[in-house]
Amino acid sequence: MRLLKTNNNDGCALCNATWGEYYREIDNEKMLFCCNICADIFENMVNEVKKRTGWEKIDYIELHGNYSSGRNCTAFSNGKRFSYYFRTYSDGKIMEFKNID
Ligand SMILES: [Zn+2]
Repeated sequence: MRLLKTNNNDGCALCNATWGEYYREIDNEKMLFCCNICADIFENMVNEVKKRTGWEKIDYIELHGNYSSGRNCTAFSNGKRFSYYFRTYSDGKIMEFKNID
């Protein structure tokens, strides 16, 4: 089984915060988040990436940015890559999502 990782190794898979402990299973991996909002954002983002790429699994996601400015990301799967920018509302729903060439 391939496991989904991000560049946030210290804490929350989305924002890297280390103060919280909230687990959710995403892509068959029990992933650590700081809170349920970060888990919601991450899960919505993963679903959107899969929808746009047609990928079944994502191996790795590199995330840069934050909640207010939005995040520039690159997702990797089987040697392929997909770059995108996204921003969400406070409840984790996607406000803006665009492909980056
Ligand atoms: Zn977080």
